[in-house]
Amino acid sequence: MTHWPPQSSFATGFAGKCPRCGKGELFRAFLTVRDSCAVCGLDLRGHDAGDGPAVFVILGLGALIMPLVLWLEFSYQPPMWLHAVIWLPVILVATLIPLRLIKGVLVAQQYKHRSTTGDGEPT
Ligand SMILES: [Zn+2]
Repeated sequence: MTHWPPQSSFATGFAGKCPRCGKGELFRAFLTVRDSCAVCGLDLRGHDAGDGPAVFVILGLGALIMPLVLWLEFSYQPPMWLHAVIWLPVILVATLIPLRLIKGVLVAQQYKHRSTTGDGEPT
């Protein structure tokens, strides 16, 4: 049985790497977790972050963006199309990037704390 040194959940999650070996890719698409690690063979099917990343992004982004939107509206009263031009790209970028990062960290935390039923154990 191969010994895998502990990996930082934040380092592997932010890098999108396997939580066990820290070398294999965690995602096979932008937000889709691979079935298994190509390097160490860790079964990743049992690791599901669910709605966790979306909750963190919604709460965090809402707290950051809404005061800016309200400030812009009450300070300059721009037309609605200008709000759309400004905030849609900002919100898209500000949600998609953290979603992937947070999902990687949550999957790594699940592996670290063994929240699966054994599917993620070494083969
Ligand atoms: Zn691996």
